[in-house]
Amino acid sequence: MDMQKTYDPKAFEDRIYTDWEESGYFRAEIDENKIPFTIMMPPPNITGQLHMGHAMDATMQDTLIRFKRMHGYAALWLPGCDHASIATEVKIVEKMKAEGYTKADLGRDGFLKRAWEWKEQYGNRIMLQQRKMGTSCDWSRQAFTMDEKCSKAVREVFVNLYEKGLIYQGDRIINWCPCCKTALSDAEVEYSEEAGHFWHLRYSAVDGSADVVVATTRPETMLGDTAVAVHPDDERYTALVGKMLKLPLTDREIPVVADSYVDPTFGTGCVKITPAHDPNDFEVGKRHDLPVIRVMNDDGSMNKLAGKYEGLDRYVARKQIVADLEAGGNLVKIESHNHNVGHCYRCHSTVEPIVSKQWFVKMEPLAKPAINAVVKNKVRFVPERFSKIYYNWMENVRDWCISRQLWWGHRIPVWYCKDCGKVICVKEDPTGCPDCGSHNIYQDEDVLDTWFSSALWPFSTLGYPDLTEDYKYFYPTDVLVTGYDIIFFWVARMIFSGIEHTGKVPFHDVLIHGIVRDEQGRKMSKSLGNGIDPLEIIEKYGADSLRLSLLTGVAPGNDTRYSDAKVESCRNFINKLWNAARFVLMNTEDKKIPAITEVKFAPADKWIIAKLQNCIREVTTNLNKYELGVASDLVTSFVWDDFCDWYIELSKPALYGEDENRKAEVLSVLCFVLENALKLLHPFIPFVTEEIYANLPNTSGSIMMSDFPRYNSKMGYKKEAKAFEGVMGIIKAVRAMKKDAECPPSKKVELYIVSESKRLLQVNKDCIMKLSGASAMSFVSSAADVGGKTVSAVTEIAQIYVPLGELVDIEKEKARLMAEIERIDGEIARAEGKLNNESFVSKAPAKLVDAEREKVKKYQDMKAKCVAQLESL
Ligand SMILES: [Zn+2]
Ligand SMILES: [Zn+2]
Repeated sequence: MDMQKTYDPKAFEDRIYTDWEESGYFRAEIDENKIPFTIMMPPPNITGQLHMGHAMDATMQDTLIRFKRMHGYAALWLPGCDHASIATEVKIVEKMKAEGYTKADLGRDGFLKRAWEWKEQYGNRIMLQQRKMGTSCDWSRQAFTMDEKCSKAVREVFVNLYEKGLIYQGDRIINWCPCCKTALSDAEVEYSEEAGHFWHLRYSAVDGSADVVVATTRPETMLGDTAVAVHPDDERYTALVGKMLKLPLTDREIPVVADSYVDPTFGTGCVKITPAHDPNDFEVGKRHDLPVIRVMNDDGSMNKLAGKYEGLDRYVARKQIVADLEAGGNLVKIESHNHNVGHCYRCHSTVEPIVSKQWFVKMEPLAKPAINAVVKNKVRFVPERFSKIYYNWMENVRDWCISRQLWWGHRIPVWYCKDCGKVICVKEDPTGCPDCGSHNIYQDEDVLDTWFSSALWPFSTLGYPDLTEDYKYFYPTDVLVTGYDIIFFWVARMIFSGIEHTGKVPFHDVLIHGIVRDEQGRKMSKSLGNGIDPLEIIEKYGADSLRLSLLTGVAPGNDTRYSDAKVESCRNFINKLWNAARFVLMNTEDKKIPAITEVKFAPADKWIIAKLQNCIREVTTNLNKYELGVASDLVTSFVWDDFCDWYIELSKPALYGEDENRKAEVLSVLCFVLENALKLLHPFIPFVTEEIYANLPNTSGSIMMSDFPRYNSKMGYKKEAKAFEGVMGIIKAVRAMKKDAECPPSKKVELYIVSESKRLLQVNKDCIMKLSGASAMSFVSSAADVGGKTVSAVTEIAQIYVPLGELVDIEKEKARLMAEIERIDGEIARAEGKLNNESFVSKAPAKLVDAEREKVKKYQDMKAKCVAQLESL
């Protein structure tokens, strides 16, 4: 045996990973005799470093893929990275700034050269870190959203959508980040409630006939007002509609228009209309053909249309404009007001809704089939409740702004002809204008939203648009495992993209997991400084303990808490497994172990084998349902309680006995159960199970390529297992009696037993005596046959008397028996209550009703025995 004395993950985790990788075990082969099972790894950002969220993602996906691989599927887990357009560009710009450069200094080509260098330097870091987790993904198929394959898919999809009229360029109100100087999609804006103000402004009619009061949260935008709107049915303002108002601080006059968008019950019922700076006003402006006057530059400063405020930052201009309005008598009042303010998800600057020429994807025709796919269960959210978030977003989705004023990303594949104005959108880079033949063409400066390429991830990585063998075999994929925070950023976009471009849903199931919080339930964040580095935990406890702790108690969709204590208890479990394996292997050394099929099973053997079969069935069912927390709990309690605490102890009398035959049989069962337990555990804790498996007799190859255990009904042994639990009940009862009497477990006692199951107890006499610490065990016909002071217990199959001499406290024993009788009375009352309930008796299956009757009988019997014992005292 090559197993070290103590469990030390550092001694083998890296070595085993290298072995797996070099042996090609991670590679998924196309095999027409197998069913494919595919998971696409959500690509981490190239700027990323492994954090607990990734660790959770990786553990869940790796557990599923290892299970499926062992279960006979052609399992592909395809890894990769996302170029993360805006996030990466922000970081590179920061680094350049520290070195004294700006983007303009380097120019587009110089900047992109740096960006690719950055990618080379950091892009692999997170992939290497993931290996530490034991991830069994197919590195030979590793993808990058900007590699040749994925870029080809992006190009194909853009041109197809453009040709179908689903991509268009237009002036629209978009979310603008003045700090990153780029447009953002709705999903990239984070809202938070902030204290602000409502400034109430007075505009007067040019003819002096009336005043109106309008309110705004952004007074600087009034310089771009091109109308005031009222509701058409608002009688207060009927006479005013069509009149001109003087716009303060400017020499412009603006009309009063009637539009049903206005809520007449809100404020004064008059609304200033600023089409260039508000999405609703933009729509009103279109309906009334109002001019669009944009008064702000891309960096958030005022432009020349802002007149004397030109060049001032938006907030400086705001102060001055309010002061000037007040001086001119146009400020009616300032009201405190909390409102939802949008922030850039990257730099947290306040987002400015601004009119801008951008590229958009028309969403309505794409959203409909994507909603249908979930309604019809072609894509299933696990848990189901998350489909609501999806519907809600999809049903209200606006056109998707896909152009970004950045350099790092997929450049928009559109060229313009300087001579004839032709817009050229083609799959291969053009050399000239197809209309006029001019070579005077230039490409659009913008790049695509980073999610445009990640939306294609499930099929671009497999070779789409080419009908590659991989694409034909592995697509659509099976399950997408991800956190709930990117359902609309990403999951929704993959669904409509898959349906539109491949005609198929990109995956069947979406397994949503929560976030990993700290011990106190707080989100891990840089600002709180409560982030925990998974690599440090692996260094300290090993990857297996971290993995198991992340799955402990996890339920789909729910947040979990990380704690060192959890990892430690998982390490304790693995220690226990390690020691159990060593015990088995030390006893098997140099011995010939009979095949399990040749063993004549003793009752304890049948019991552990029945438990094992049950565990196999339950673990398999729960893994198939994505209940990873339930599955890991089932297998760990089987190993800890049933195998280590019971069966190994039960095996000792035989192992230390004289009967060589029986010894060999017990060893055979120990090896059989251990081997199966390791296989059941492998998807959760791959390293230690591999290390132990390599030392088992009669195994060869890697456990990760072995067959996952399958439930064998011939080894179910339900009846025998139940009977043996009666034996265990006696052992537990004696242990409890000794504990109650403060008698040390090692002190040998004598057992007197009244039972109708004499044969069963006789067969298991050695076990009972050894495990309950008894020096003798004999059968008696009643309590009267036992002399002296005794304590007693009643189990389902026996009454047990133990003479404990001076240790027995009669009063204490009486009190214990009375408490026991009370407990039994409670059980009887509960069962009788059920049986007296007519609707239970008439509606419940006959089996359940009979079981309740059975219970009443059993408890009445136990009660009678307790009463008899009490009387004997
Ligand atoms: Zn920003
Ligand atoms: Zn042309």
